[in-house]
Order: sequence, then C-alpha cells, then structure tokens
Amino acid sequence: MSQQVALEEFRVSTKAWLEENFPQTLVGSAMGLEGEADDSTKADFELWRQRLADKGWGAPTWPTEFGGAGIGHPEAKIISQEMGKMGAFNPIPLMAGMGVTMVGPTLLEYGTDEQKTKHLRGMASGETRWCLGLSEPGAGSDLASLITKAEDDGDTYKLNGQKTWTSGADISQWCGALVRTDANAKKRDGISFVMLPMAQDGVSTKPIRLISGASPFCDTFFDDARAEKSDLLGPLNEGWSVVKRLLQHERQSQTQARGPGGGTKKPSFQQIAKDYVGVDDSGALADGDLRVRLINHLMDSEAHSLTVNRITAEAKGKVEVSAAASILKNSATKIAQGKAELTMELMGSQGVGWEGDNYTKEELDNVKDWLWGKAISIYGGSFEVQNNIISKNILGLPENTQKG
Ligand SMILES: Cc1cc2nc3c(=O)[nH]c(=O)nc-3n(C[C@H](O)[C@H](O)[C@H](O)COP(=O)(O)OP(=O)(O)OC[C@H]3O[C@@H](n4cnc5c(N)ncnc54)[C@H](O)[C@@H]3O)c2cc1C
Repeated sequence: MSQQVALEEFRVSTKAWLEENFPQTLVGSAMGLEGEADDSTKADFELWRQRLADKGWGAPTWPTEFGGAGIGHPEAKIISQEMGKMGAFNPIPLMAGMGVTMVGPTLLEYGTDEQKTKHLRGMASGETRWCLGLSEPGAGSDLASLITKAEDDGDTYKLNGQKTWTSGADISQWCGALVRTDANAKKRDGISFVMLPMAQDGVSTKPIRLISGASPFCDTFFDDARAEKSDLLGPLNEGWSVVKRLLQHERQSQTQARGPGGGTKKPSFQQIAKDYVGVDDSGALADGDLRVRLINHLMDSEAHSLTVNRITAEAKGKVEVSAAASILKNSATKIAQGKAELTMELMGSQGVGWEGDNYTKEELDNVKDWLWGKAISIYGGSFEVQNNIISKNILGLPENTQKG
C-alpha cells in the first residue's frame, strides 16, 4: 500500500474514532493558557483526557511503552487536523506544562530506561505537570551565568538558589532545573540538569502577575531542596548540552504562529475585518490601507505555514529539531504579534477596552491577547537571541558579544 493510501485510511479511522469519542459538549469549549476546563464541562473534559491518554494520543509520536501511540509525524498531523475540523482539541500538552513539548522529548533522547519508565507516562496522560527552572534573576539570555547550586549529598543533590519566570511552578508536580554542580569549572562546564518533585519542604513558589492580568509564572525558591541522583538527566556537568537540545524542542513547539489562547472558537480574521471596518460596493474591505495590510499579513501567515510544512516534508515527516527552529520561532512571533496588533486596529476604539459593558468578550479578550503576545518574543529565548543563533549557526557569521 502506498504511503498516501495508508495516510488516507488513517484519516478515515481517525475521524470515526473522534466522532465516537469526543464529547460534543466540549466543541469549541474555552481552554485558558493553563489548559483548565470550564466548571460546566469538567466531567466531560476528564473523560476526554482519559480517552486520549488510553489511545496514546496525548503524545502520539512517543513509543507506546511510554504512553504514546508510536505513530509518525504525518499521522500525528492528521489527528490534529481532524480534531480541528470538528472543534476538538488535545489538552494534554497544555496540562503537562513543559512535559510533552520539552522535558519529554529530551528525556527520550538523554534519559535512562528507568527515568523514561518513571516519568513519561504521567506526561503523556496529562496527569503530571512539569515546569522548567532555567532562568534566574541574573541569568536570562545569558543562561550560563546561573548560580543556583546543587551539592552532592549522598543519594541526593541538595539545591539552593532562586529561579524566576518559572511557568506553572505553583501548579506543577515536577521541575526540570538547570543547576551548577561544579563552581570551579568554566561557565558552561559545571552545569547539570536535574529533575525534582515540587511537593517538598525545600521548594516554594511566588506567582508573578503579568500585564495581561494572568499569572502564569513564578519566582521559585530552592532552600535545601532535594533531587534524587537517579533523576540527573544526562551526565553530571554536561547539562549545557542537554538544555541546548531542550531549548530546540521548545522553539520547535513555538513555530506554529498560533498566538496566545487556543481551543476557543473565534470568528475568522477576515470576518472581524468585515464586521468592524465594513465593505465597499464591490465587497472589498472599505479601508484601502487596512485591506493591503490584512492581505500582507495573510500572505505572510500562509507562507510561514507552507514553510513549516515544507521543512516537515523534507525531513520525511520526522520533524528534525535544529537551528532552523530559531528562524521559524521568529517568523511565528512576527505573525502572531502582527495579527494581534492588526486586530486592535481593525476594532478601532472597541479594540482598546479593559473592562465594562461597552465591550464584547471578544474585544476584551483581544486586548489581553495583544498584551500576552508581547511575551512571545521573550520566552524560549528572545527575538534578538534567536537572530544571534541564526547568524552564528546557520549563516556562519562570527561570534557576537554573547559567547555561544
Ligand atoms: C511568558 C514567559 C514564560 C517564561 N517561562 C519560563 C520558564 O518556564 N522557565 C524559565 O526558566 N524561564 C522562563 N521564561 C524566561 C525567559 O526564558 C527569559 O525571559 C528570556 O530568556 C530572556 O531573559 P531575560 O528576561 O532575563 O532578559 P535579558 O536576557 O535580560 O534580555 C533583555 C533584553 O536584552 C536583549 N539581549 C540580551 N542578550 C542579548 C544579546 N547577546 N544580543 C542581543 N540582544 C540581547 C534581549 O533580547 C532582551 O530584549 C519565561 C518568560 C516569559 C516572558
């Protein structure tokens, strides 16, 4: 059977399974940035999560022994396309925090069999949420300046220090943390990646409020926190290589230009434009300048999606994680931020409300999305830092002031 025919058959069976198993009460249901269900749909949401987990579709490309479905990226794409068509969604990557998209793929590459067995199933089922403790008050773009230390203490490492901007730290069960294990080694040589449970006396978190109103990240404090030695990911003092890989997975997961939110049914961009700006006698958008900018945006957005598809196809569906993810992350950032900006302009004075009955829910949500969108060019490595990676690792230009 040709691959094309096999994929078509897979599409038919996927559609049938979704029709049978996706609770209709959840069609287009709101899912916030934390992936939480509305109160009214909690039971159905849990049923859906469990069904997806049993099917291995929370992290479909992972091996079945670790909670995935053992299928390829082309099949995984079909699942998400068919879900999109019927207003369904996969909440598990959001529920697992940094698990399915970052820690999990890195564990699959660097983890011992024992670590994979211990950690991957909880991520793939959405039952264990993970956070990532990389950034510190004095170490963001220059991550290798981190000073949180982990000392050898028998069967465990003893951690002391502060992490910051730790997304979901206050609601996570596990943390993947980058720590200094050799204070005398060169900056990048004395760093290790450890995994530790958040529910312990030595770990505390303090949520930080964002300008958009949400509070998705925290300051995280380690005061004699413990990580089992068996939870060291990759070799001791070689955490820099592990985290470089993990960050590539992070960027890879941010290449889709979806922007903030997700999971909710919104009117199309073109529809918003028509509703707010109106159309002329020929049916075209009434404002010529906005029309041109809207078309430019839609073309950029389409070109970005086609490029993502082409890179996936060239990698024969394997989705190679490479420095090219930096290009796609920046391109996705520009599109998502440009869309939020343009939507505000299309809405005019209705697009700048913060609260009150004069604004619809969509209008108020858009202002929050616009503010949240500012974060996209910061997290996962800032826009400028991606450009540095592109110039050095893809274009072969000389090193800049930031080493590495
Ligand atoms: C929503 C959100 C979620 C986050 N979640 C997490 C998380 O879960 N875990 C975690 O560990 N971290 C997280 N972060 C932190 C994020 O990784 C850092 O904010 C990011 O790496 C930038 O570091 P910084 O904030 O310290 O800025 P800085 O590094 O201080 O940068 C400040 C400015 O200087 C520019 N700059 C810095 N160095 C260079 C250079 N060499 N060349 C050119 N320009 C440069 C930057 O582009 C930026 O504009 C999150 C951030 C956000 C916004």
